[in-house]
Amino acid sequence: MTVITRFPPSPTGFVHIGSLRTALYNYLFTKQQKGKLIIRIEDTDQTRQVDGAVENLLKTLKWAGIEYDEGPVLKEKHIVTNDHIFTNDKGQITKPLSTDVKNNKQSDMYGHLEEKGSHGPYIQSKRLDLYKKYAQELIEKGHAYYCFCTKERLEEMRKKQESLKLAPQYDRFCLKLDKKEIENNLKKGISCVIRQKIPNGNIEFNDIIRGHVTFATQTLDDQILIKSDGFPTYHLANVVDDHLMEVTHVIRGEEWLPSTPKHIHLYQALGWNLPIFAHLPLLLNPDKSKLSKRQGDVAVEEFIEKGYLRDALINFIALLGWHPTENEEIYTLNDLIEKFSLKRVQKAGAVFNKEKLDWMNSVYIKKLSIEELAQLIVPYLQKESWYRENPNILKYIQLIRERLKILSEAPGMLKFFFLDHLKYDVTLFENAKMKVDKNMAKNSLQFANDTLKNHEFWEKDEDLKVPLLSIVEKLQIKNGQLLWPLRVALTNEAFSPGVFELLAAYGKEKSLQRISEALMTLKS
Ligand code: GLU
Repeated sequence: MTVITRFPPSPTGFVHIGSLRTALYNYLFTKQQKGKLIIRIEDTDQTRQVDGAVENLLKTLKWAGIEYDEGPVLKEKHIVTNDHIFTNDKGQITKPLSTDVKNNKQSDMYGHLEEKGSHGPYIQSKRLDLYKKYAQELIEKGHAYYCFCTKERLEEMRKKQESLKLAPQYDRFCLKLDKKEIENNLKKGISCVIRQKIPNGNIEFNDIIRGHVTFATQTLDDQILIKSDGFPTYHLANVVDDHLMEVTHVIRGEEWLPSTPKHIHLYQALGWNLPIFAHLPLLLNPDKSKLSKRQGDVAVEEFIEKGYLRDALINFIALLGWHPTENEEIYTLNDLIEKFSLKRVQKAGAVFNKEKLDWMNSVYIKKLSIEELAQLIVPYLQKESWYRENPNILKYIQLIRERLKILSEAPGMLKFFFLDHLKYDVTLFENAKMKVDKNMAKNSLQFANDTLKNHEFWEKDEDLKVPLLSIVEKLQIKNGQLLWPLRVALTNEAFSPGVFELLAAYGKEKSLQRISEALMTLKS
């Protein structure tokens, strides 16, 4: 049996980090099993459509390295070749996160897509006839029925149930209609929906992660299958497509577990084989609440913007709810494919620990060559008004690499290197702990200036150590009493790379300029 999996997002905006994990687990499992992964666009809720969401999703999958075998693909001219997924043709950064509600303009909306695979179309709004056909079959077999209830009636029913403290459920008013009444209503064109007739009893199934699951059907509502606008709901469309696309494994988030009994009933009612289910654990905040819904905290696009590296983010989310047998933390994509196992996915919610992600990102940053890192950092620098090309850029980046956790921190850490002049905060030169007052700072900088003026070797930090430490000895002061004022003179900051490294990175001319400008400030 060829394994066929699917990742069927609804294009409602940004890509949630949890969705990326679902896509990744599907990908890892499918690759390992040498199966096929299908991407399907579940756009049946027309009110939640967001312009650009599908494009955004496909670009995000591409960025993440999640390849798929069937589904929509961006036409050639919409494929961006550089790593930055939100760059338009002019190289400007764009964020396709608008919330425009679309009218039914599928053809315009998907004009930039084509499809690959033999199970298409892969966009549900292009498959409406199929859903209608199966809804009809369900009605004929007695597993679904027309419902003509008005909004007002449903509202009244809901209020009544609320006052009686009953669970809100459709009261099956329309199940009592006879054939004639139904035909008449349909003829008159009265607005209607088609509802699933949930059977009595229990619905049971096995889930690879959750084990044997039983649902009592009296807790389930007679779900709408076809809405009054003729579009199917998620439930019907999802089941019909998973069946027609020959999906063997449904791997999705735990939030869909309560929908599964309804799906099982539909499979059974239509006489179809069930796929194998695996419901992935929820993602949680460190306080165990459901992972924040705020876009900035969970949108994959934001993680990319902030400068998390692809391999780090993939490594991190792969371990959100699953871990191989050994205790390692760092895995390449190939390792993950080899080791992934649905059976080892945990039931309990997985805590999203941002400190761990930052740590992991810094591990991957350190793995890059300095040239590779520069290539990733320069686009962030280019957004800053103070940025100018600089022949020493690699040296500068080398100095922040150890402390760098995410790429977007780099401009803040590098800015002082690029400024022509620093606007010194004079109080920074003083440091009570190191016994440096203004006079001490002035004196130390004067000696540093006089010594370094005649010094010729500036290549390595070692080259600067000897002359500077000889000043310390001569003046009988502590290292810090010289190095602290020098650090401030070179950076105007309290935290920075080491002084010797800074001097070597700046070179003689710029170092002496900074020191004499600091002296001037202290003397004024
Ligand atoms: N369209 C659903 C979503 O947005 C898919 C759920 C499923 O995998 O069945 O997540």
